[in-house]
Amino acid sequence: MSDVFQFMNVARDPGAKVDAAERKIVFKEIYASLATSDASEQAARCLHCGNPYCEWECPVHNFIPNWLKLVKEGKLFEAAEMSHKTNSLPEICGRVCPQDRLCEGSCTLNQGGFGAVTIGSIEKYITDEAWKAGWRPDMSNVIATGKKVAIIGAGPAGLGCADILVRNGVQPVVFDRYEEIGGLLTFGIPEFKLEKDVIARRRSMMEEMGVEFRLNTEIGKDVSFESLLADYDAVFMGMGAYKYMKGGFAGEELPGVIEALPFLINNVRQNMGTLPAGEAHQSMQGKRVVVLGGGDTAMDCNRTAIRQGAKNVICAYRRDEANMPGSKREVANAKEEGVNFLWNRQPTGIARQLDGTLVLTLVTTQLGEPDEKGRRKPVIVAGSEEAIICDHVIIAFGFQTEAAPWFEKHSIAVDEWNRTLAPQGQKFQYQTSNAKVFAGGDQVRGADLVVRAVFEGRQAAQGMLEFLGVW
Ligand code: FAD
Ligand code: SF4
Repeated sequence: MSDVFQFMNVARDPGAKVDAAERKIVFKEIYASLATSDASEQAARCLHCGNPYCEWECPVHNFIPNWLKLVKEGKLFEAAEMSHKTNSLPEICGRVCPQDRLCEGSCTLNQGGFGAVTIGSIEKYITDEAWKAGWRPDMSNVIATGKKVAIIGAGPAGLGCADILVRNGVQPVVFDRYEEIGGLLTFGIPEFKLEKDVIARRRSMMEEMGVEFRLNTEIGKDVSFESLLADYDAVFMGMGAYKYMKGGFAGEELPGVIEALPFLINNVRQNMGTLPAGEAHQSMQGKRVVVLGGGDTAMDCNRTAIRQGAKNVICAYRRDEANMPGSKREVANAKEEGVNFLWNRQPTGIARQLDGTLVLTLVTTQLGEPDEKGRRKPVIVAGSEEAIICDHVIIAFGFQTEAAPWFEKHSIAVDEWNRTLAPQGQKFQYQTSNAKVFAGGDQVRGADLVVRAVFEGRQAAQGMLEFLGVW
């Protein structure tokens, strides 16, 4: 096969008959000249295959082959400008996106079995290195419009929204109840996945661009929603999803049984030195820990407990490994670090013994018929009870959205899952049922990914710019 690109198109066509041996030879030839490790050499591995599936699988549709080319040519500042055209937090997505399910999973080299271009690490490299070399976002053409928008929530959605607004001359004022920006980037995702100084750097970059942050300020408590409506031209809500999902079994409220997010936040604040007075550090040092759940939050709890020096960490999940919702990379990391997984196990209760230790009862499951979302339901195997004695159980069953107290009064509608209704496909995208109010991120989608929250924040900002007559 002489035409590599034609070959790759054929290989991608599910209907095409492709000779596996031939495919290996072609990719081996390409790979021999391309396999390398550092950023510019990795960038050079991009085949510019003409079918940028990586761009389509990337939720913000980054211009990946284009910035790879700029990196290859050593044009770092141009690469940084280009990567910010589609993503407000490229260095953060580069660190925390589940690339194996998104851009890198669809890289043509990956399809050929030769390992994807390391797109995420190059994306992170571009902003990290450009910043060090003095690059700053180009704001020289921005003309102030005199309009201002209140943003509730300094998470990825709020930051994505603020980025687009400020670049279009609209003053964003971002309110957050926490002491630092980032939402779950700061108070959820642990330091070993995302260094906190990266978020601090992003904060100073955004402040230099003209974004104003008002932290330690909770809307509905410290500042009323009514005052935002009165004082600003529009309001964006990116308040996330924070209602803990429960297992519905006995013992979930016992001492020693902990919710995932408070555990992670406590650890972050211990490391940042911002633990509130009177709150002790919740350390798992020397403890036997069981984490319940199979998503990224569960993996973060596993790996945090290991780092705190837990005696042992078991992670129990009710489906099998193939059906875990967490990123494969995170599961592999947790395994490597010493977490023991129990697949197909469902908790049925927790009891506390006189000495304070916990007895967690589990039953074995097998996968049955698909549920309404198409996922096979775990079915309990009769007579399969087992008990585990431990010191702590950490519950990581995920999060749901909640309607804020002011929603009803201001006609902001939610769906049956309390997700704020703010559709994309309407005149002003991500506008809620109150014309002056927009929303995006986990609050609209339900608990999801950083990159999707960034995308929705940016899209909502575009809807607002049209609503405000700026565009
Ligand atoms: P959030 O990040 O939750 O931000 C919402 C912000 O709104 C918060 O700062 C909150 O304080 C503020 N707020 C809420 N109400 C008010 C109010 N009334 N007044 C003022 N402020 C308010 N995604 C990935 O892509 N990769 C990962 O590796 C990953 N790991 C994760 C690990 C954990 C432990 C968790 C919990 C989530 C993880 N996620 C991950 C998911 C990701 O963090 C979220 O999808 C993303 O942060 C959602 O962004 P958001 O802006 O919608 O909400
Ligand atoms: Fe890949 Fe995420 Fe970057 Fe998109 S934003 S290119 S999915 S790492």
